Amino acid sequence: MTEVTAQGEATLLEKARQKFVLTFGVKPVSAASAPGRVNLIGEHVDYCEGFVLPVALPFTTIVVGAYNKLDECRVHSILASGEELKTSFVATSSGTLIPGEPAWANYVKGVLAKFPVKVCGFDAMIVSDVPMGSGVSSSASLEVAFFTFLESLTGKSVDPIEKAKLCQKAEHDFPGMPCGIMDQYIVTLGKKNHALLIDCRSLEAKQIPLEADDTVILVVNSNVKHQLTGSEYPLRRAQCTEAASLLKVQSLRDARCEDIEELKWLNTDPDVVKRAKHVINEIARTEKAATLLPLKDFNEVGQLFYESHDSLSKLMEVSCPELDELVQIVRSCPGVYGARMTGGGFGGCMIALARKDSVDEIKKKVLSQYKGKPTFFTCNPSDGAKVLQV
Ligand code: ADP
Ligand code: MG
Repeated sequence: MTEVTAQGEATLLEKARQKFVLTFGVKPVSAASAPGRVNLIGEHVDYCEGFVLPVALPFTTIVVGAYNKLDECRVHSILASGEELKTSFVATSSGTLIPGEPAWANYVKGVLAKFPVKVCGFDAMIVSDVPMGSGVSSSASLEVAFFTFLESLTGKSVDPIEKAKLCQKAEHDFPGMPCGIMDQYIVTLGKKNHALLIDCRSLEAKQIPLEADDTVILVVNSNVKHQLTGSEYPLRRAQCTEAASLLKVQSLRDARCEDIEELKWLNTDPDVVKRAKHVINEIARTEKAATLLPLKDFNEVGQLFYESHDSLSKLMEVSCPELDELVQIVRSCPGVYGARMTGGGFGGCMIALARKDSVDEIKKKVLSQYKGKPTFFTCNPSDGAKVLQV
C-alpha cells in the first residue's frame, strides 16, 4: 500500500473507546485528540529562535481514559500495526516520576510530570494514525493529546502556549530529546486551511491562509530512518549555539548574512560556518514564504522550497541520499512548484507543493524511479488539539 489515508477522528475515537472498555472494564470519561504536523519551510531554525511555517495534519492521536481509584496509572497504546504497548507507573498524587523503560512511556510520563496539578491514578488508551518516526511529529502529537486528555480528566485547563512549552519540556527531560518549540506549538494551535507562522523567539504566531482548490501539499515518506538523528540533532544545535556565541548574539536569529564573513575571519570550524549560513538564510526564506502563500504565488514559494532543501543537504548536512533522490525525481515532474525534505532529516518525509491534477503522474514517477519503498499522502491543513466528547 503506497497511499496512506487518515482514518478520521470519529473512527479512531470509537476504536479507542471500545479497546478501553474491553481492557479496563469501564467506560472512559475523558477524551482528547492532537494531530501530527508537517513543516512547510523553516527547518532546523526553531532552536535558533527563528521562524517556522508548519501545518497540522489530518492524522491524529486520540487518548481516552478515566480515574481508576488506584495509586497507579495504566496506559496502553495501540499502534498502526495492531501491536498493543502497555506501561504502568506511579500516580503523581502519590509519587515522583522518573524516565526509564519502556522508552515510549517517557513521552507520557514526561507530560504527566510537567502537568501543573498532581493527578490521581487513571487508566488510558491511546490510538493514533500519525506515522511514527517519519518526521511528522508523532511524539508531539502524543504529548499534546495526552496533556489535553489530562486537562479534560482533571478539569484544569492550561493556556495553549504554556501547554506547548510544558510538552516541549517533557520531551527534553524524559525521552531526552532537545527539540525546539515548533512541534508542540503547531500541534496545539493548528487551524484548518491555515499554516502557522511561528516566531520561535517571542512565541507569537500568525495564521497564514492556505486554501487553493488546484494546489496540494504532497508528502512522500522515504520510509528510511537512519540512526543518526539521536546524535546529530544535538550536535547541530550545539554548533548553532557556538556560532551565536562567537558572534556575541543571543541566537542566530540576531545574525545577518555579513556575519558569515566574520565567522570565517574568526577561524571558526567550517562546519559551524555552514550551519550558521543555513540558519540565517532559512529564517529569511520562511518569512518570505509566509508573505507569498496568501498571494498564491506558488512558483516563488516552490523556489524557496528547493533552496531550503539544497541548504539542508549541503550546509546543514541533515538530508540523506534517499531524500535527495526523491527531491531530484519530483523536480523534473510537470506541475511541481517545489520540493524539500521536511522534519529533522536523516530520513523521514519530503514535501512537494504541486498542482492537484499532476499528483498521479508524480506518484507514478516516484514509484518507478525511487530505489526505496515510498508512501504518499496529500494533506489539507487541519485543526490542532481538542477535548472530545466521549
Ligand atoms: P516523530 O516525532 O517524527 O514521529 P520521534 O522519534 O520524535 O519521531 O518520536 C517517535 C517516538 O515517539 C516513537 O518511537 C515512540 O517512542 C513515541 N510515540 C509516538 N507516538 C506514539 C504512540 N501513538 N504510542 C506510543 N509511542 C509513541
Ligand atoms: Mg518527534
